[in-house]
Amino acid sequence: MDIDNVKNILIKINEQLQLNKEYLSELDAAIGDGDHGHNMAKGFGKVAEDLKENEYTDIGSMFKKVAMLLISNVGGASGPLYGTAFMELGKEYTGLNELKIEDLEKILELSIKGIKFRGKAELEDKTIIDSLEPAYNSVKESLKNNEPKEEVLNKMVDFSKEGVEHTKEIIARKGRASYLGERSIGHQDPGVTSTYIILKTIRDNILGEK
Ligand code: ADP
Ligand code: MG
Repeated sequence: MDIDNVKNILIKINEQLQLNKEYLSELDAAIGDGDHGHNMAKGFGKVAEDLKENEYTDIGSMFKKVAMLLISNVGGASGPLYGTAFMELGKEYTGLNELKIEDLEKILELSIKGIKFRGKAELEDKTIIDSLEPAYNSVKESLKNNEPKEEVLNKMVDFSKEGVEHTKEIIARKGRASYLGERSIGHQDPGVTSTYIILKTIRDNILGEK
């Protein structure tokens, strides 16, 4: 996958987030302040605009710009959280112009590192981490077993989806939803859902480009 494929996936992620804007904000209205879809749509909208206008010489500098745009354009917690993930990726991929399926493990690992550094959430806190960490563990296991690309990606999305469903059963311990305590049970976390949408878009696009 070259830099244009990566750019294209980021543009597709924006398209999916725009389509799911109201849905994500509705999820947030139940346990937060109702802006998650709008936050994601605004941030990634700026990213897509930028990517369509500008050329980048390497994947790292593109990821750094994505990070900067998410951090500076999103008012909610999710901007700096996703932004910090892209910041980690920007550092790692400086000067590089190609990604392989094996990079997915590192990408998820670094994203988790950035998000945990910024937000201090752990698994079961009902956040983005509840989708990213099962996805990461699955990819790591699949790659260790030399599974075909399709299986690596499909399982990643399946585990991410399980993580989304699981958030309905647990209490929020981070972010605005944590103010609700036990009353957050029964509701799906918005942030974990946007993570799932992003991972699913990555899968759909890589497999579509076979
Ligand atoms: P805000 O809560 O500021 O309105 P958003 O609505 O855009 O921001 O994002 C809310 C989502 O952010 C939550 O659903 C949750 O998944 C995620 N989130 C909140 N705090 C944290 C944290 N400390 N670590 C990881 N994810 C978090
Ligand atoms: Mg919100």
